[in-house]
Amino acid sequence: MKNKVLIVEDSTVILKILKHLAKQSLILEPIFATSMKEAQALYLKHKDELFAGIIDLALPDAPNGEMVDFLLEEKFPVVVLTGSYDEQRREGLVKQGVVDYVVKESRYSYRYAINMLNRLYKNQQLQVLVVEDSKQYRKHIVRLLTAHKYQVLEAEDGVEALTQLKNNSDIKMVITDYNMPNMDGFELVQAIRRQHEKSDMIIIGLSGEDGGLLSIKFIKNGADDFLNKPFQQEEFYCRITNNIESLEQLHKIQDQANRDYLTSLYNRRYFCEQGEILLKQANKKNTELALVTLDLDYFKSINDEYGHEAGDVVLKFFANALENSLGRFLVSRIGGEEFCVIVPGLSNEKVVSLVDGFKQHVASQIIDVNESDILRVAFSAGVTNIKLDTINAMLNQADEYLYRAKEAGRNMVIGDE
Ligand code: GH3
Ligand code: MG
Ligand code: MG
Ligand code: MG
Repeated sequence: MKNKVLIVEDSTVILKILKHLAKQSLILEPIFATSMKEAQALYLKHKDELFAGIIDLALPDAPNGEMVDFLLEEKFPVVVLTGSYDEQRREGLVKQGVVDYVVKESRYSYRYAINMLNRLYKNQQLQVLVVEDSKQYRKHIVRLLTAHKYQVLEAEDGVEALTQLKNNSDIKMVITDYNMPNMDGFELVQAIRRQHEKSDMIIIGLSGEDGGLLSIKFIKNGADDFLNKPFQQEEFYCRITNNIESLEQLHKIQDQANRDYLTSLYNRRYFCEQGEILLKQANKKNTELALVTLDLDYFKSINDEYGHEAGDVVLKFFANALENSLGRFLVSRIGGEEFCVIVPGLSNEKVVSLVDGFKQHVASQIIDVNESDILRVAFSAGVTNIKLDTINAMLNQADEYLYRAKEAGRNMVIGDE
């Protein structure tokens, strides 16, 4: 797998900054070099694992971009670091096919370069659909996107675009021209927006035929952004990246809102929402659905004896164990030391034995709560496969078994009898 990046810079100060930033935020593994000789040797040695590079344009043994030339010859994605900026140099680099270039101006420049490598790596998972009837323009856009590692699909008009979207549910972004036969760009945007909210599909309109009016119309019809043709390559990349990053940010916030702050498991609200969907499916298909509640035994005494922070460590440990063992199902923390799992498709008996197995695993683990104390934790659980009207009703049912388990001495799993 290609998960390494080559970073080549001869200035010790800048290299130090790059190392620091890489450690802080690079999602790939960096290897560093300070000269062309060293960089070439590393490149040849790690060729199969190298994904991209950040390369200083001027190196002591390669003062005129020879290292960049070498890598471009190899078709290797390169982000160039350059000490000086001029129009001619910019154009030269862009023409040569560098992914991007960064002028060494401030700390932000280096952050930008590191972020660009992360971006390229993540782009490999992103599907983009290019809709444009001019073959020449379409190929141009495809080339730009491919250079930034996106997965690219093509369509000649709106009708073909809708077919592509139907067949490829992973498409995250559509870049569409306005003037096309069969179905134009506006009709396409409207058709897409009937099925996809802004939060799950980015649309960028291409216009240029009438000085601005089309762009406004694109936005009013539901596009997120537009580009006037002809556009600068860098403008294209900036628009695409900004839109992708906004969407990622939105997804991150949405995900956080569904999760519990301490353990990162799903919270009660999300659990109930998704649980209702699973319950409906199980009713429709007439299949099994088990709901499990788990409650730690004598948890309050852990807080009392070792402090609240130690209690938190135990909760995080337990959540992690639960996620590792049963994470393929819907797992959540629904209250203080109470957790819940929905298991579709398995009988009550099978789920009771699954939870029993998990109980034995937890019992075998020791938890480091602080420097001097280790402890073990146990839990009681209730499991019901009785499909009641709502998830909350099923929760109450499972809770009833849970209380029985507590009364009978704890450290026990009780199911439907
Ligand atoms: P039982 O075996 O009957 O379940 O006894 P228990 O002590 O586990 O249950 P009880 O309901 O008496 O106490 C639960 C405790 O969980 C009380 C509360 O302070 C603690 N708790 C709830 N949320 C948190 C949390 O986020 N962190 C910590 N450290 N403690 C929490
Ligand atoms: Mg056209
Ligand atoms: Mg408890
Ligand atoms: Mg409790």
